[in-house]
Amino acid sequence: MSVVRLCEDREGPRVIPAEEWRRYEANLGEILCALGMDLDTPGTQDTPRRLLEALYDATAGYDGDPKLRTAFPSERPEHVDGSYGQIVEGPIAFFSLCEHHALPFHGTAHVAYVAGDEILGISKLTRLVRLYARRFTVQERLGEQIADGLVELVGARGVAVHLRAAHLCTQMRGVEEEGSRTATTFWRGLYAQDESLRREFLSMIR
Ligand SMILES: [Zn+2]
Repeated sequence: MSVVRLCEDREGPRVIPAEEWRRYEANLGEILCALGMDLDTPGTQDTPRRLLEALYDATAGYDGDPKLRTAFPSERPEHVDGSYGQIVEGPIAFFSLCEHHALPFHGTAHVAYVAGDEILGISKLTRLVRLYARRFTVQERLGEQIADGLVELVGARGVAVHLRAAHLCTQMRGVEEEGSRTATTFWRGLYAQDESLRREFLSMIR
């Protein structure tokens, strides 16, 4: 079991040999059938294959994202300190699979940072969120990874991440109210030290 990290050289699609793929399809077919699905209809005969493909696509974050690496000079003039200048992006929609049930949790992310010497193209923040969201994960780890990823990518002086998500594993099975959301915040660097930065971030995303 290997987890592809942001800075690893081995990036690119996971390779699953064709004969393995067919075996997984057959196993999924068996499970769906046991649960009650009739696999002998035009609508369902290819469902095991489609389910496997959908799961593969939904976990594409394990493939890494080579396009994330581009950073640019910060554009900050030399005489400017910039430690209170925030770059805030969001809401960024994300879809993950909870690692406890392999069922979706989904919601929005707000990501902010105080730049060091480099900045990131805005679209890269979305890519960063999706890199870690498209995996089997939990909301807490997702936020920590996004925060650390951003520090690592651009040497940000501070990072703030706010995630708000609905967890289908609890909602579909009636454990939790439909409409309930889980909110989590993650702070690095200047945000961890400075309450006024945190407050400004939270009021900007409200
Ligand atoms: Zn779950």
